[in-house]
Amino acid sequence: MFKPVRATYLTEPLPQVRQLRRRFLQMAGASLLLTVHPVRAAAPAILSVRVWPGSDYTRVTLESSTPLDYKSFSVKDPERLVLDIDGVDLTGPLTQLAGKVNESDPYIKLLRAGKNKPGTVRLVFELKVSVKPQVFRLQPIGEYGNRLVVDLYPENPADPLLALLQDKQQDAAAAPAEDARAQNGRKQATPDDDVPDASANKGPIFTVMIDPGHGGEDPGAIGSRGTHEKAITLAIGKRLRQLINEQPNMRASMTRDADFFVPLADRVRKARRINADLFISIHADAFLTPTAKGSSVFALSENGASSTAAKWLAKKENEADQVGGVRMSVGDPYLKRTLFDLTQTATISDSLKLGNSVLGEIGGINRLHKGAVEQASFAVLKAPDIPSILVETAFISNPDEEAKLLDEAYQDKMARAILNGIRKFAAKNPTAVKLKVASASS
Ligand SMILES: [Zn+2]
Repeated sequence: MFKPVRATYLTEPLPQVRQLRRRFLQMAGASLLLTVHPVRAAAPAILSVRVWPGSDYTRVTLESSTPLDYKSFSVKDPERLVLDIDGVDLTGPLTQLAGKVNESDPYIKLLRAGKNKPGTVRLVFELKVSVKPQVFRLQPIGEYGNRLVVDLYPENPADPLLALLQDKQQDAAAAPAEDARAQNGRKQATPDDDVPDASANKGPIFTVMIDPGHGGEDPGAIGSRGTHEKAITLAIGKRLRQLINEQPNMRASMTRDADFFVPLADRVRKARRINADLFISIHADAFLTPTAKGSSVFALSENGASSTAAKWLAKKENEADQVGGVRMSVGDPYLKRTLFDLTQTATISDSLKLGNSVLGEIGGINRLHKGAVEQASFAVLKAPDIPSILVETAFISNPDEEAKLLDEAYQDKMARAILNGIRKFAAKNPTAVKLKVASASS
């Protein structure tokens, strides 16, 4: 369910008879091999290789039938990372790995694969900048087998506040063209010219952290047409960023702006590092039955989930770290916390107000799954001092809603609805913003 299935999905199915015949021949061949040759200890087979370049880090994943034995070390002048993998042959997917690195990769200049000594394959990563590599194995989960992961983090990461300003400038520069193109659509799609403008009073800059769910190794839910949740959440997230950055006193940042995985704790950390006023996590999940439909909005709960479905969904979302792949030692005190303090209680109260405001706007463009904000223990909503909501834009598991989610006009309407919800909340609850500013400057 978690593994990208697009390729197999699109393959033309073999006619039933040919498939059976092929299976029979495979079985016959397999038993023949076993009877003629003595059985050798099974070498790990590399099943798949993937490269996920991102602004935060680039990840290279080797998926194998059994756990891989490896050694890694760094070499200076020029910067390289060497990874020796024992007991594998330089065949199959391993031979394609080098070709999967893009010229635009922020961290890898070149990747070479070769035989080091008998039974060892050596990968050499030639690097563009100094990196702090993290090499670790992941246990099988969902549809994934054993994974060996190489994460290349920059030694000197970009300043998130500077990046935020650059985003705003970029979007502002892109805005005029976008404006002209979208002028007509916007007039229709924005039913509330009566929204009090939060920017009218020359208040402080209002910062929103947009969190497109999943990414990279974690595709999220997959629709029946093969649509990945991670692609939809990124598309809507980017639209929302553009819309927010067009507002005079608002600016937006994203926990990810490309197809790479960000651990749940890092999403929260990123929001706190830029002192975000609000945190909006965007999703488009699956449910057990394809008939489930409608949008919903969630906030963190202090004691128990508001429904069984909300609890089930939070549990599924919280599994993202296992699927996306996080080194086990990386922890975060906020995510493990079970006791809540007064700050968190006040934050949840603001989260519910924000959630209701956004839910009201979404109700204008899509059927609502439930008429009220639901609550459950979502790890990504646990910033103690930032009102945070998770928007399930629609069910990707429902074929009609999957079609909607793929529709750019719907993505745009959804982003505008979220923006209007945020603006109404900010106009009605200026203290939620002011308190934040006060505590930041103290
Ligand atoms: Zn999701």
